Amino acid sequence: MEKVLALENFKAFKCKCNLCRHTCCGLWKINVNKEDYLRITSLGDDCNHFVCEEYQTPKRYAHIALDENGMCPKLKDGMCSIQQKYGIKALTTICMEYPRLVRYIRGPEVALSTSCEAVVEGLMLDRPIAFERLCKNVLLGNPYTKNQHFINGNAIRLSLIDTLKENPSIEGLHKMEEILGLNIGLKLDKRFFIFIKSIYNEYFKNRAIHTGYIDIMDKVIYENLVPVMNYNIINILINHMFYMNFPYCNNNDHIEDNMIGLYTIYGLLQILFNVLEGEELIDYIAFIFRELEHSAFYDRIGNLYKELI
Ligand code: SF4
Repeated sequence: MEKVLALENFKAFKCKCNLCRHTCCGLWKINVNKEDYLRITSLGDDCNHFVCEEYQTPKRYAHIALDENGMCPKLKDGMCSIQQKYGIKALTTICMEYPRLVRYIRGPEVALSTSCEAVVEGLMLDRPIAFERLCKNVLLGNPYTKNQHFINGNAIRLSLIDTLKENPSIEGLHKMEEILGLNIGLKLDKRFFIFIKSIYNEYFKNRAIHTGYIDIMDKVIYENLVPVMNYNIINILINHMFYMNFPYCNNNDHIEDNMIGLYTIYGLLQILFNVLEGEELIDYIAFIFRELEHSAFYDRIGNLYKELI
């Protein structure tokens, strides 16, 4: 039977539900497709918590009408009240699947987004995370993995991940850059730190402050930063590369920009591991990836690098 490629954290993943410190049930737009909209609104009068799009497509038919705090109105005491009443059929596809992603890249794969705090917790190992091949039952009949995305694959991603595992530091990124035929010549120096600070100010600072996180850059003095090398950082990068299909991500034509993006994430992680620890560190990492995965970061990073460095 065809096996499903996954990182070892997939099987163990479990949503923390009401124990989640920063639930995914709000603070971003949750799209609803037409099929979900019709299925859920027919369940009962208490199941129309949607706003229809002005220009509807089958994929983007409506979105969840968030409350005045920016959260899903069906979230009660950290739990989904309509799932409790009607079962899993009351969930939108996005709510059902997140943070899982099922796709075919030469074969079936399942990956987890680093934007969920439970996923980040699962990456905090003191050894490199391993791949495994799961039985296809993980996909079949599992309501959390019913939607499969078919995307063009590349073989290089897994060999880049192996390179990083063999060279678990900035050296690994330099070697990946060589494999990709690039010559960026990037050093983790003060200039790059100033660049990271401007990226932080552009992409994360306002959202951080408005959603209850501290402004980490306030605390950072370049001269006090010490290089941090541990498998937590490497595993976070591996999970991100696997999930985002690095180096192609969403921007096939700009591999150099994507590589600069990965260096930037490495730099941000260096800062986070210098200034935070415990739950605060985990939550901030999930926050950073939430913003990264929902912004034009990869599309803009190359130009910003050329402008600022
Ligand atoms: S962020 Fe992760 S752990 Fe928290 S509610 Fe969402 S899926 Fe569950």
